Amino acid sequence: MPEKVVIIGSGPAAWTAAIYAARANLQPVVYEGAITEENRLQGTLPLGQLNLTTEVENYPSWPFVDAAVMEQFSRSALPPDQFAMLEGYYHGKHGTGRRSAFGPEIMTYMRQQAVNFGTRIITDDIVQVDFKRRPFVLTAREGQTVQALSVIIATGARANYLGLPSEDKYKNNGVSACAVCDGALPRFRNKPLAVIGGGDSAVEESTYLSKFASNVYLVHRRDQLRASKIMQARALQNPKITMKWNRVLEEVLGNDKDGVTGVRLKSTVDQQTETLEVSGVFLAIGHTPNTKFLQGQVKLDDKGYIIWTKPQRTYTSVEGVFAAGDVADSYYRQAVTAAGTGCMAAIDAERWLSEHGQV
Ligand code: NAP
Repeated sequence: MPEKVVIIGSGPAAWTAAIYAARANLQPVVYEGAITEENRLQGTLPLGQLNLTTEVENYPSWPFVDAAVMEQFSRSALPPDQFAMLEGYYHGKHGTGRRSAFGPEIMTYMRQQAVNFGTRIITDDIVQVDFKRRPFVLTAREGQTVQALSVIIATGARANYLGLPSEDKYKNNGVSACAVCDGALPRFRNKPLAVIGGGDSAVEESTYLSKFASNVYLVHRRDQLRASKIMQARALQNPKITMKWNRVLEEVLGNDKDGVTGVRLKSTVDQQTETLEVSGVFLAIGHTPNTKFLQGQVKLDDKGYIIWTKPQRTYTSVEGVFAAGDVADSYYRQAVTAAGTGCMAAIDAERWLSEHGQV
C-alpha cells in the first residue's frame, strides 16, 4: 500500500507538516535524515539547521524563562530517550538564569509533537525520487523504496564553503561552518579565530565565538555588513571582535599536526594580502538548498531552490509534490516562516489528495 503522504526533512517545515498531516488522518511518514559523518560535516543531520543554534530569540511563544522551568518542561513533554538528548542544556552555565529556548529544545519538542499524533519516523535519507511514476517511488540510502501518493519536500538548506583546497584540507581540523557545533572545542578556546561573511550568520557566529576565543576577526568582502542593525551593533561594540573590512579569504594556512594556524586574506580594493594567526576559520557565507537528490524531477531555480508554481501555495512543478521551508525559500529563511509553509504544504497535500479521490 502506498503511503498517503511522505515528508522528507526534519526542520520546522517538516515537523509542522507532519503535525498537520497526522491530525488530518494522513498517517504521515517522515524521513528525518540519516546520522552519518557526511551529514554531520555538511550540516544536514536530523532536526536541521535550528538544531545547530543556541538560543532562539525570534520564534514566537518562547519568551525568556527560568532555566530550571525549561528543564521541568522538557522532562514533562518528552520521553526519557528524547529528554536525554537535551540533558546537557540543564547543567553548568545553562542550568541557571533566564533564557530563551535553545534550537535543539524547540526542534525536539516539534518532533515529539508530531510523534504524539501518530507520525512515523524513519532515520534515513531519501537519495532518489521517481516522480514520473504514480504512486511516486522514493529510495533511501540502502536501496529500500517507499511508495507515496503525495510528497512534501522540506529538506532545507546547508551552509556554503568557498571551495578552496586549503579550506577542504582543514575541515574538521580548524575549518568549520558551524560555530555553535564546534566553537567550544578545546582547539578554539582562548585562541584568535576568523569568521568569514557579513550577514546575520557571520555576526551571530562572531558574537558566539567571542565567548570562547581570545579575539575574533570578522572578515567581510565589503565595507558594510549585510546583517540586521541590532546584530551589527552587538558585533561592532564587542571589544573581542575586530572587523577586517574589504577582505576575502585567499588561503587557510596550517600543518598536519596543528591543523589551522592562520589565514591569508586578500584585499578587495587593492592587491594587498595579509596573514593573521588564527587557530580556526568559520565560514558564514550563505546557504545551498538540499535538492541534489531531486535530479531533474522537480523544477528548481538557478540556485537550486524548488520553485513554488502557484501563488500563495506550496505546489511544485509536479502535481502531488509540495515543498516547504528553506528548500523553496531563499528569501525569508526563518524558522517561523518554514513552520508556516510546512502547515500550508500539509493542507495543500490533504486537499489535493481529497480532490483526486485518494483519501
Ligand atoms: P546572507 O544574509 O546571504 O549573508 C551571506 C554573507 O556572506 C554576505 O555578507 C555576503 O557578502 C557574504 N558572502 C557570500 N558569498 C561570499 C563569498 N564567496 N566570499 C565572501 N563573502 C561572501 O546569509 P546568512 O548570514 O547565512 O543569513 C541567511 C538568512 O538567515 C538571512 O535572512 C538572515 O537574516 C537569517 N539569519 C537570522 C539570524 C537571527 O535572526 N538570529 C541569524 C542567522 C541568519 P555580501 O554582503 O557582500 O553579499
